[in-house]
Amino acid sequence: MSKVRTRFAPSPTGFMHVGNLRTALYEYLVAKSLDGTFVLRIEDTDRERYVDGAVDVIYNTMKTAGLIHDEGPDVGGEYGPYVQSERKDMYLPYAEQLIKEGKAYRCFCTKERLEEVQNSTVGGGYDRHCRDLDQAEIDRLLEAGTPYVIRQKMPIDGETKFVDAVFGEITVDNSELQDQILIKADGYPTYNFANVIDDHTMGITHVVRGSEYLSSTPKYNLLYEAFGWEIPTYIHLPLINGKNDDGTVSKLSKRHGSTGFEDLIAEGYLPEAIINYIALLGWCPKDNQEIFTLDELCKVFDISGISKSPSVFDYDKLDWFNAEYIRKMSVEEFAQVADPYFTQALGDKELDRIKLASILQQRTVKLTDIPATIDFFKELPKYDKELFVNKKSKTNLENAPVMLKAVYDKIAALEEYNHDSIHDALINLATELEVKNGTVMWPARIAVAGKQVTPGGAIEILEILGKEESLRRMEIGLTKLA
Ligand code: GLU
Repeated sequence: MSKVRTRFAPSPTGFMHVGNLRTALYEYLVAKSLDGTFVLRIEDTDRERYVDGAVDVIYNTMKTAGLIHDEGPDVGGEYGPYVQSERKDMYLPYAEQLIKEGKAYRCFCTKERLEEVQNSTVGGGYDRHCRDLDQAEIDRLLEAGTPYVIRQKMPIDGETKFVDAVFGEITVDNSELQDQILIKADGYPTYNFANVIDDHTMGITHVVRGSEYLSSTPKYNLLYEAFGWEIPTYIHLPLINGKNDDGTVSKLSKRHGSTGFEDLIAEGYLPEAIINYIALLGWCPKDNQEIFTLDELCKVFDISGISKSPSVFDYDKLDWFNAEYIRKMSVEEFAQVADPYFTQALGDKELDRIKLASILQQRTVKLTDIPATIDFFKELPKYDKELFVNKKSKTNLENAPVMLKAVYDKIAALEEYNHDSIHDALINLATELEVKNGTVMWPARIAVAGKQVTPGGAIEILEILGKEESLRRMEIGLTKLA
C-alpha cells in the first residue's frame, strides 16, 4: 500500500469552527496513527468569501492545537504549491484532456438560456444541450470567441456506488447527476474539480471531511474514474449538534455557545482540553478512557472507532475536561496560563502569584473564572458587617470583634510571617480561647477578603496579602464592628 497521506483543506473564512478543527484533528490522527504524512492545503479559490488575515487564523489554530503539518504553504514540500490560488493554471489542461477523450465538453450556453432551461425543466438543471454538438459547430463558436464552460459528461443511466469508511455503501442514481462544470467561463476550476485534481496530484490517500460532502462524493468519484485514478479512502464525519434549551438538539451554532476555536480559548478553555474533548466527538476508543494527550491519541486512534451518528457538543463536558487538565498541571504551569487573568484582576499589584495559583488551581474550571474570584486581593470590597455572622463557625456580632481583635494582636506580634506561623498563631488562639477554629478563622477571613466565598481560607489569604495589608484590612473590620 502506498504511504498514507491526508490533508486538511480549510477555506480561509477567518473562523475555525469546532467541526473544522475536528476534521483537522482526525486528518492528523489518521496520518499519525498510520505512519503517514499530514498536509495542509489552503482552499482559497472562492475569492468572494476571502477574508484578510484568515490564513493566519488557520496557522495559529493548528499551532496552538498542536496539529503540526508535515507539508504546507509555510513549510513547503514536494507536492506544492499548497495554496489553491497558486495552482490555478494546473487545472485547465486536465479538463482539456477529458475533452480529448470524449469525457467532457465545452458548453457555450448563455446565462439567459441556462436560466430559461432551469425554469422549464422539472427539478431544474441543465439539459445537456451542448453535449453532442458537432465539431464544425464547436469550431465556429470557438472562432467567434464565444465564452464557454467545460462540463463533464456524466453517465445518463445506471448508478454510482462507493464505500465510505464511516457511512458504508452509498449509492446514487446517475440520472440525478448533472453534467457538472469543471472549468468556469473565466478559465478557473470549480471547487469540486480543483479539489479532485489537488487531492490526486498531492497523492492524498485518505480524505476526511464533514458529512455535508457525502452527497458530492459520487461526483468526485466519477472524475477519478474518468481519469483512471485511484479513489481515496473516504472518511465522512458525523454532524455535530448542540443542545437546545427545550432538550432537543440541532446543528451546533452560536446560539448554543462559542463554536470557534479562538472563541473557546478566549472563554478560558485550554487548547489541550478542547482537543481532547473534540477527539471524542464522533470517535470512541476501545475502552472507556477519556483523558488522552495528543500523542496518546496518535497511538490509539483507529478509523473503525468513528461513529456515524451525530454527536452533541456538551459545554458541561468540556468544562469537566478543562478542570481535569487544570488539575493535572504543575502549580508553576497553572500560574503561567493563569497569569494574564491574574493581571486582569490585580493590575500591577504585586502578590506571590505561585501562592495565588496554588489556592486557585483545584477550584478553577475555566481560566476566565479567575478574575472575579480574586478581585478582592486588589481591593477590599465594600461589605456589610452582617457577613461576620456565621452559624457554623458560631460567630455573631458580639464575639466577632473580640475574635478579630485577638487575631489582629497575634498577627501583629508575628516576627516571621509565613503560612506555618500564621497557621500556628490562629490555631493556638482558638485553643487558648477555648473556641472552635472556625470562630477565629471566620472573622479573620471576612475582614481580609470582604466576602464569604473565597479561594483558600483565612490563613492563605493572610499569607498572600502580607502582614501590613492584612492588618490594615482587619482594622477596617474592627471599625465596622465597633
Ligand atoms: N475547503 C473545504 C472546506 O473548508 C474542504 C472540503 C474538503 O475537505 O474536501 O469545507
